[in-house]
Formats: sequence, C-alpha cells, structure tokens
Amino acid sequence: MEQARQMLQHHFGYDSFRNGQAQIIQQTLQGQSSLCVMPTGGGKSICYQIPALMLEGLTLVISPLISLMQDQVEALRAANIPAAYINSTLSVQEVDETMQLASAGYLKLLYIAPERLESATFLQALSYLSVPLLAVDEAHCISQWGHDFRPSYRAIQKLFTLWPQKPTVLALTATATPAVCEDIRQLLEIDEQSAVITGFARDNLAFSVLIGENKERYIKNYLTKNKLEAGIIYAATRKAVDAIYDVLSRSGESVAKYHAGLAEEMRMSEQERFLKDEARIMVATNAFGMGIDKSNVRFVIHYQMPRNMESYYQEAGRAGRDGLPSACILLYASGDVQTQRFLIEQTQDASRITQELVKLQTMVDYCHTEGCLQNAILLYFGEKAGEPCGRCGNCNDGREVKDVTVDAQKVLACVVRMGQKFGKTMVAQVLIGSKNQKMTEFGFARLSTYGILKGQYSSKDVSSFIEFLIAEGLLAVKHGTYPTIYVSEEGKAVLLGNRKVMRKEAVIVRKL
Ligand code: ADP
Ligand code: ZN
Repeated sequence: MEQARQMLQHHFGYDSFRNGQAQIIQQTLQGQSSLCVMPTGGGKSICYQIPALMLEGLTLVISPLISLMQDQVEALRAANIPAAYINSTLSVQEVDETMQLASAGYLKLLYIAPERLESATFLQALSYLSVPLLAVDEAHCISQWGHDFRPSYRAIQKLFTLWPQKPTVLALTATATPAVCEDIRQLLEIDEQSAVITGFARDNLAFSVLIGENKERYIKNYLTKNKLEAGIIYAATRKAVDAIYDVLSRSGESVAKYHAGLAEEMRMSEQERFLKDEARIMVATNAFGMGIDKSNVRFVIHYQMPRNMESYYQEAGRAGRDGLPSACILLYASGDVQTQRFLIEQTQDASRITQELVKLQTMVDYCHTEGCLQNAILLYFGEKAGEPCGRCGNCNDGREVKDVTVDAQKVLACVVRMGQKFGKTMVAQVLIGSKNQKMTEFGFARLSTYGILKGQYSSKDVSSFIEFLIAEGLLAVKHGTYPTIYVSEEGKAVLLGNRKVMRKEAVIVRKL
C-alpha cells in the first residue's frame, strides 16, 4: 500500500486516502472483485485509477456519460496518466487509432460507453488486449431497482469470458439501497464481504423541507439574503426551469439555465458560465450536474420535490463538495406529487411504474417526516441512524410536540370504515364532511366518521395530516390503478389504543 500512497501523492497531489479508498485499492490489487459505495464527491475515481497505474495491462472503465468520460480523461492526461475514451463522438478512424494505442500498450485506462459492448467487432478487438481490471462506474445502472437502469449495462457480463482469465471487477456507485447493492453484486459476481460502503453522512450539509411556502417569494428572499453564494435550483420540468430563470433574470440575478430542451451548444455555454462563477445561480432540471465538480456550491434548492431519494441525495449532494457548511432546501407542495407521478407515467416502462411510484411515496414520506432529516436519509440508504444531526430543519424546529393520538384514531377509523380502498383525497373529503356528490353516491355521508374533523382542520390540513400518518408508517399506500391507503400493523396498534402518536404542532398550510 505504500506504493499506492506514493501514487496518490505523485499523480494526484493528496497526502492521505479518504475513508474506504485504501481498502478498495488493496482488495482490487489483490484481484478481489469489489463493490464500492460512496456518496457523490466521496472520491470513487481514485479507487480504480491508482490500481490501473499499478497493474500490468489496461484498465477498462465502463461509464454511461460521455461528458464525464471526457472530463476524466482530460484530468488524467493533465496528471500525466495515459488514458483515452471511446464513445459515439469519435469517428471510426479515431476509434481505430485509440484501439491501436491500446494494443501497443500505450494506455493505462480506456473509458468506454456500455453500448460499445453490444458490437461483436468491438468485443473481438478488446479480446486481443490484456485487461486485468474492469471498473464499472455508476454501477447501479445495471440494476432494474436502480433509478437509472440501462439495459446495455447487462452486456458487461460478456467481458467475464472474453479473456482466458476473468478481470477483477470494481463496481462503483453512490446508490446504496440494499436491493440495488444485492443486484449489482449478483450480476457482477462480487462477494458480499467485498462490498465497501462508506459514510453517507455529509456533516456539512443542512437539510430542510419547507411545506406550503410561496416558492417564488422564498427563492427571491433567499437569494437576497445570500447575495454572494453560488447555488443550484432544481425544478422538475423544463417549463418550470424556463419560468424560474425568467423571473430571476428579470429581477437582476446572475443566472444560468440548463435542461435537455436547450441546444447542446447553449447547454455547454450555460454550464461553463456557472462553473467559472460568471453566473452565480444555475436553474436546471435533473439533466444538469452529473460529473460536475464545482466545489463552492453553497446551496441546492429543490423548487419541486424530485422523484425519489436517490435523485434527491445525488442532486442535493452537489452542495458543499469543499466541505464547508451548505444548505439543501426542498420546497414541497402537494402538487409536486402529481407532477412526478405524471412524469413517471410518461417516461417509464409499464413494468417499472409501480416500483417508481413506491419510491416516489418514500420521497413524499421524507418530506413529511418530523425526525432528523439527515438520519432519514441514512436509514433510507441502509445505514444506521446516528444522533440527530443538529443542523437540519427538523432538528432546529422549536415547535411544540403535541399528542395527536385521538385525531389519528379518527383518520384511521375512517379509512377502515371506507373499506381501505380509496385514495387520501377521498378520505380527507369524508373527514371534513365534504358536500361532493360522491359522498352520497358511495354512502360515505352515512359513516360515523363523516365530518368528524370538520371545523377543526381545513381539507389541506387533513391531507397533510394523512401524509404525516403515512410518513409515520401508520397508514400505507397501495399502488393500483390509482394509489389507495390502508391501515398498517402499526396503525392498528394506534386504533387499539396501544400506541400514542406525537406530532410537532401542525404547520398551517391553510390560506384563509
Ligand atoms: P465521486 O466519483 O465519488 O463523486 P470523485 O472521484 O470525482 O468523486 O472525487 C471527488 C473529489 O475528491 C475530486 O476533486 C477528487 O480529486 C477529490 N479526492 C479524491 N480522493 C481524495 C483524497 N484522498 N484526498 C483529497 N481529495 C480527494
Ligand atoms: Zn437533523
């Protein structure tokens, strides 16, 4: 390992390894296939770049993103490491030249897009090379359970039998949900003991979720209060990005924008402006940010709730890569759920919709949890929760905790009486005694729980209370043609009077 440390110093200018790096490098050098799970910015690249330098032969890096490959290769060349990439931007001749360099032994690292592996000619060309190490970047792309499944990743398995000896595999990802890790290990043949999962906690990030804010006003105020700081504002749709961008540039902010609907040229120049601090704010869809290494991002604001926790943590995690205190603010409105549901239904395969909706619900739960947000994230990614972080919006929330057991029982009882087969909007309408004609049509107006919360809560408050009960695991969501709610085992304990429900004083969503 001493030699590895010298490489770190010599080529990258760092004195010591970060958490997890040394172990991964050691395993890899010993020919043990490994799974490396580290948060974005954790330093995954070095885990295969250093072994690549030390091993005889060529390290093949599978990477899904063209821009990321190009950046990495440029950075490696700048550090005097012979590297190249092959992707769709190269001409046939350039590909040939690169392959010649590789077979002549001039390259230490070759980055390739997974689609390449679908070409038999290309595989044959690879088979003549000596490849001791196969690094699979963004390895969650191989899993159906991941948030970014790419069928071409399955072709990686062809490489296991391409040479007389199977190369050592190093799978890298920032997604640590147990199902995804399991899948990656199975498909890439990695032992359970060889997974190295390092701290997902980012001690410098302060998370918060704000419900029912006037989003536009909030952002304007925030930008005025934090005048000199760079930040990213993520929105769910191109239309929203354009709208926020217009509002901010009209009010004189230094702002750039990025989404897939803009011409490639414009995207690149907007990105540059942000990276070079010429624009202080980037307004973007989730198309922006993969592989972007801008260290001084002081805040990431989500204008709408993203579609799942993986996306959220990845996007929010672009704040504070320099380790300085930074804010991750999520502006939640119940309409965000419909927006994301619509996007999921439009863009996902039918076979994946239910699974994506389950993930969406977990995201909604996060927005309504009243415990430490940092801990909620850690638990989601399969880590043990620690002490409350003391930085997040919930840890710093001075509101009083109230016993809401009786109201919870009323809601749960109502769900039971309605046969546990309706959505939360319908349940809320029954609870506040809505005059909607469905109430009589379905016979709800005759239920003893009809109007039981009338006068006490507005219909929005009831919806938000139901969300809270879902986040607490007392109600559960079933995804059919439309989502319905039912009482969980935990919820039954509340109904039986065996469990209390405590809630911070209700946030008043109501605008009278
Ligand atoms: P990831 O791929 O996990 O998102 P990167 O590999 O891009 O992260 O690394 C993130 C940043 O951390 C890079 O700027 C990298 O140079 C830096 N870095 C990596 N390892 C170390 C280390 N041991 N000491 C200091 N900085 C490091
Ligand atoms: Zn906290």
